[in-house]
Amino acid sequence: MADIRVQLATNKKEKPAADQLGFGKVFTDHMLVIDYTAGEGWHDARIIPYQPITLDPSAMIFHYAQTVFEGLKAYQTADGEVLLFRADRNFKRLNKSNERICIPQIDEDFALEALKKLVDIDREWIPNAPGTSLYIRPFIIATEPSLGVHPSRTYQFIVIMSPVGSYYAGGIKPVKIMVEQQYVRAVVGGTGEAKTGGNYASSLKGQAIAEEQGYAQTLWLDGKENKYVEEVGSMNIFFKIAGQIVTPALNGSILAGITRDSMLQVLKSKNIPVEERRISIDEIVEAAKNGTLEEVFGTGTAAVISPVGELKWQGEKIVINNGEIGEVAQMLYDTLTGIQSGKLEDTFGWTIRV
Ligand SMILES: *Cc1c(COP(=O)(O)O)cnc(C)c1O
Repeated sequence: MADIRVQLATNKKEKPAADQLGFGKVFTDHMLVIDYTAGEGWHDARIIPYQPITLDPSAMIFHYAQTVFEGLKAYQTADGEVLLFRADRNFKRLNKSNERICIPQIDEDFALEALKKLVDIDREWIPNAPGTSLYIRPFIIATEPSLGVHPSRTYQFIVIMSPVGSYYAGGIKPVKIMVEQQYVRAVVGGTGEAKTGGNYASSLKGQAIAEEQGYAQTLWLDGKENKYVEEVGSMNIFFKIAGQIVTPALNGSILAGITRDSMLQVLKSKNIPVEERRISIDEIVEAAKNGTLEEVFGTGTAAVISPVGELKWQGEKIVINNGEIGEVAQMLYDTLTGIQSGKLEDTFGWTIRV
């Protein structure tokens, strides 16, 4: 599958103004599609005008959720260069998710080359206002028309792209998060480690309850004992307790965030000690009570860092750092966004030029 066929759009869409972007509402002119057929493998890679897809109503994706996805970003630097951030890691993780969901492996190198070509074709869609970027959504769906429960024999790998606004147009604002007591997102041995739609379907209820009470997101506890902190919505979570940075260890039900990994590497490079371990919600409540809970922040591709200003647990409200962003979160945000946007030297080798 050496070639990628290209069919350019004849009608270019109008690009939204930088202050009208939002998140994932407008899509670029083109998309990448690659088909899979059992016995033949992945074939017919093509970049075509962005368009609806037609599937049989019995296509397996609609019934049994055999699907995986990724999320990453491209940035335009001050010199007009285009940088992808750690895109190789996204395709590696996509294959890990594929393995769990019984979807055939993709060729990671080919996917990266195809993505670069797609980004290049739509490069004028990459916004350049501070904090803006091009959000990239690769995903795979099971397309075989069949109601029998088994892994599909056909798939489509699709990449769509959306220019996204600055998450923090009005400055970085800490969010309020509710610790979920009743529902769980994932259990060890389940699919929590895979980036798959089903995990999100099962999280909607907790999210709805949090929103009803005025909270932005849910903090999930482990599915077995309902005691250990796992992650937030689509972000991993970090705490600073009595000067020590801690984050839950990857235990098999937590998604291994690429932002999380990047933060760990930045912290280590600055000789700031960080621990990956089990953290109980009781430990967090205790630290808040004795005044040692100094910072809480989430990490993920969309926001990079989301400081947490308040946690709600069993009717109690825990205010963190007076509801302001902490020093460590600010340093990590500045470092990572600096590297991503080409403002800081990339000593880690994370950026990929398109
Ligand atoms: C994608 C995702 C994250 C964050 O991963 P990044 O690679 O840092 O964007 C965290 N948790 C869940 C459940 C996710 O789906």
